[in-house]
Amino acid sequence: MEDIAQQVYVCKKCRLWQGAKHGVPGEGPLNAKIMLVGQNPGAEEDEVGRPFVGRAGKYLTKVLAENGINREDVFITNIVKHITPKNRHPFDDEIEACLPYLMEEIRIIKPQKILLLGKAACKTPRIEGIQYYEMVHPQAASRFPKMGKKFLEQLKSLQGYACFW
Ligand code: URA
Repeated sequence: MEDIAQQVYVCKKCRLWQGAKHGVPGEGPLNAKIMLVGQNPGAEEDEVGRPFVGRAGKYLTKVLAENGINREDVFITNIVKHITPKNRHPFDDEIEACLPYLMEEIRIIKPQKILLLGKAACKTPRIEGIQYYEMVHPQAASRFPKMGKKFLEQLKSLQGYACFW
């Protein structure tokens, strides 16, 4: 995992490194059963080089905790490891260039379940044996009450699955 992080820090496989301060690799325990995949780092994540530490991340951490999930127990990453200009959606070629990092993270962690946060994350190729859940992005959930409600419903419905957490 450390190798992947080192590669992400110096990655120039697409144009995005030019506007970024830090590449942001995933973080969390190597034995995590659950992986969360977001879109790409935002300004605060770019500043410190860690995923989901900004507004959306604080919201995510809080909602997870309220539902009995400790952020430290899950592996959190993004489909694209660099910030995008004005936080636009990543382009398909950027996702494609960055995908080997995510696929390697998945290969190492071997999670039972992957929560795909938002549309871009839903482009993650599926691997047999892993359960995938398409969810609202926490950024939308934290901004729009309707989306927040949906996100919470999605999270709660997951807990209905046997031994989800
Ligand atoms: N922060 C991240 O790290 N990823 C997102 O998708 C949004 C905010």
